[in-house]
Amino acid sequence: MKTKIIKLNNKVDTKKFERKIWIYKSIIYKRTKFILEDNVKNINYSSVIEALNIKNRIKRINYIYDKACSEIDEYNKIKHIDCEFKNGKCMNQHNTKRINGCCRLCRLQSSHGCTSQNITCKLFFCDQLEKKYKTIKFNDIKILKCLSLTNRIIVRDNYFETKENFLRTLYLNSIIVFSIKVVINIIKNGVYLHKIRKNITKENGG
Ligand code: SF4
Ligand code: SF4
Repeated sequence: MKTKIIKLNNKVDTKKFERKIWIYKSIIYKRTKFILEDNVKNINYSSVIEALNIKNRIKRINYIYDKACSEIDEYNKIKHIDCEFKNGKCMNQHNTKRINGCCRLCRLQSSHGCTSQNITCKLFFCDQLEKKYKTIKFNDIKILKCLSLTNRIIVRDNYFETKENFLRTLYLNSIIVFSIKVVINIIKNGVYLHKIRKNITKENGG
């Protein structure tokens, strides 16, 4: 296997590198191992290099997904970003009857939070939270640049989905499949909410 040294010493280098990622992950570099030499010690770029060195497409997508999720979690932990949950109610719900924050309309919610690991949801922050904290943005997560344009669009918009199905959609890399899955998820959530409302009515003797 050939090797290619990637030198990132300043912002100009990193911008140039980001513009070339699509070609580095193409068939041309299938048998090339990338080695990072950087003076701008940036952990985000080492994970990008790691992703480029995974030559199997499915394994690379899995790695990108997990790495991006852990970067978001790590950022939230370091910056102490907090939805201020009290008795199941987030800061937006303290004076309402609603519970479970922005997961309240999703079939994947539980009393312990999300039963899956959805990257789109992890990147959602309501206005109130945005006002209080400097939250991480899609473009801050450099490793997402290793995804195709279609998959980057999917990552921005694929709420209410399990991690397993999310990854399957990314493997297929198709906007048409993604759109069909969005409609299916809306129907599944509708059925879930209908059942919940029916149970509440029964419990109240209605
Ligand atoms: S992002 Fe906003 S609405 Fe969603 S759980 Fe946090 S505080 Fe609540
Ligand atoms: S998939 Fe998203 S909306 Fe649904 S429970 Fe998980 S985080 Fe909440």
